[in-house]
Amino acid sequence: MTLPVMALVGHPNVGKSTLFNRIAEERLAIVDDMPGVTRDRLYAQADWLSREFNIIDTGGLTLEDEPIEEQIYAQAQIAIDEADVIVFVGDVTTGVTSLDEQIARILFQSKKPIVLAVNKVDSQARKSEIFEFYSLGLGEPLAVSGEHGKGIGDVLDAVVANFPAYEEAADENKISFSLIGRPNVGKSSLVNAVLGEERVIVSNIPGTTRDAIDTDFVDEESGLEYTIIDTAGIRKKGKIYESTEKYSVLRALRAIDRSDVILIVIDAEEGIIEQDKRVAGLAHEAGKGIVFIVNKWDTQTSKDHKARMKFESDVRQNFTFLAYVPILFTSAKTKKGLKDILPMVEYVHDNNRREISSSVLNQVIQEAIVINPPPADKGKKLRINYGTQVSVGPPTFLIFVNDEELVHFSYKRYLVNKFRESFDFTGTSLHLIFRNKN
Ligand code: GDP
Ligand code: GDP
Repeated sequence: MTLPVMALVGHPNVGKSTLFNRIAEERLAIVDDMPGVTRDRLYAQADWLSREFNIIDTGGLTLEDEPIEEQIYAQAQIAIDEADVIVFVGDVTTGVTSLDEQIARILFQSKKPIVLAVNKVDSQARKSEIFEFYSLGLGEPLAVSGEHGKGIGDVLDAVVANFPAYEEAADENKISFSLIGRPNVGKSSLVNAVLGEERVIVSNIPGTTRDAIDTDFVDEESGLEYTIIDTAGIRKKGKIYESTEKYSVLRALRAIDRSDVILIVIDAEEGIIEQDKRVAGLAHEAGKGIVFIVNKWDTQTSKDHKARMKFESDVRQNFTFLAYVPILFTSAKTKKGLKDILPMVEYVHDNNRREISSSVLNQVIQEAIVINPPPADKGKKLRINYGTQVSVGPPTFLIFVNDEELVHFSYKRYLVNKFRESFDFTGTSLHLIFRNKN
């Protein structure tokens, strides 16, 4: 399902990231709990009145070496391109600035719904000062204090009221997937090659997320329906922010959010670089089905089994947290390996949604405990009572113990490995939650 997007725009220091953290508070706490990479807090999921949405802090998207005005114009442009509703943040302590006026004009021309929030209204006394913001022509200014958490509900009410109507729930039978990776690894070529094989294209749905094109198609071979989410396909040339790494991370995050399965594309010719790891970390955190695609395999002088094993060990060393992810070797140019992509997408999707009955799960847990009893910590012994699967995508298990403080990460890892030995979870992360219960 596509979540609507709100974006925060405004000067540096008006309090955008403070507001971002307030609004995304709970979700960020969950993300912090997960292993993998730390993320820049420029994009997060949030909810208000049971409506879920994504939030972008455009202040996090900076352009090195550009004057501050250029940066803010670019940020406003990103908000216009990416968001359904823009929250323009002003600062009551500075009042309306000339830069505010300029940004307001750009935003106004975009015809996007704008909510005007005036921040740092920490006291009742300051409330009357917000009225000068009417002069921006963006409607009623709403008083907020990011620091004190005041007035944020009113802003979110206005945001949610301006979101488009609910989109239809995604078709359960359709598997949506996207290709992510740094520029030039061959994402667009692979999308075209996959769609060019014997596939019946059902529809192209442009516009749902501005820059993405979703293509629904049926795989003739299996009869299964897929949606390919192509965020790389239509790139608007000439915008300065397009080339920034953070922007491509934002793009990847949007694609990840909307996909059941993520194909992380690596360039065999160039090898693995740091940026690949960042993008892969985000996919891991999202708990979706994941496949590595080593593309441009045609460029390798040696393409035999041994060469693959060598490249695979490179991948394993660089992405230690993605040991569960299968690897495909492809060439969009010679079409080698392409026919394996869709079956692999289906396979990891099934694993990502696998359900294990409680009786079988507890058998596995009991066996694991017998082979390797939980170690005692400071004379206290961990006791595992029972476990149950609470959700899929990723498979999530709630495990009741006598004292969750006693669960060492190494024992948690041991259990994850036991689960993986017992069930096929290739291509999916697993989530274990420990709770006290005697
Ligand atoms: P950004 O650059 O727009 O993301 O702004 P930040 O969120 O980093 O905030 C800039 C400064 O303003 C920080 O020192 C914050 O502590 C402060 N600030 C943010 N919100 C409030 C507020 O509601 N009241 C006051 N007094 N200060 C705030
Ligand atoms: P994207 O930026 O990740 O979407 O990458 P593109 O699909 O635009 O491809 C970047 C460049 O790599 C283009 O010049 C492609 O022709 C080339 N390319 C893509 N796939 C392959 C491949 O499998 N083998 C070779 N040799 N070149 C490829």
